[in-house]
Amino acid sequence: MQCERLRLFFALDCPSGLASAISHWRDGLHLPGRPVATDNLHLTLAFLGSQPLTRLAELRQVAASLHLPGFVLHLDRLQQRRNGLLYLAPSQPPEALLTLADSLQQALRELGIALDERAFHAHLTLMRRCPRRPAAAAPSFTWTVDHFCLFASQQASQGINYHRLQQWPLLPQAHAAESDAS
Ligand code: ATP
Ligand code: MG
Repeated sequence: MQCERLRLFFALDCPSGLASAISHWRDGLHLPGRPVATDNLHLTLAFLGSQPLTRLAELRQVAASLHLPGFVLHLDRLQQRRNGLLYLAPSQPPEALLTLADSLQQALRELGIALDERAFHAHLTLMRRCPRRPAAAAPSFTWTVDHFCLFASQQASQGINYHRLQQWPLLPQAHAAESDAS
């Protein structure tokens, strides 16, 4: 059978209004390269790679066991890697984002899943094969994050498709603040 395995990752899916605004801003920079489709804009929390379908139940259990607060993410940096990846990042990643990524990654490692050894680096990829970064670009996007998702990534003839398999809520921020205070 063809689909006994899936290429999986946990991520924050960029809300459609914000994704349109980010794409519009990016397109206005008129940069050469390969833009990420608006519907595909996301921020990866943990990349699992190819996994057997039989693992899905335990992955869902891990995600459901996290009771963590939502947060507001300010994407205010435009950065570029030497390989031509152009991305948005927060100059100050919220503690709650780091806790979410760390908690997920730790729970996945406890299941025996090998993850990237590099430290988590919050970023939202805008383009690939982009040779330069406009120094004067000053992005300022605010993203209220209230859930996270498990995605399956599939290469199709017209490009990559991300299928949202399931999403899990994060706790309301006010509620989280009350829990911290008690
Ligand atoms: P393509 O590889 O075709 O350019 P993509 O990178 O968007 O497309 P995937 O390779 O399936 O699609 O990756 C899904 C997400 O996981 C992306 O955000 C990608 O940056 C991230 N990712 C992929 N490989 C790794 C890895 N080894 N470590 C950490 N994150 C990864
Ligand atoms: Mg990739």
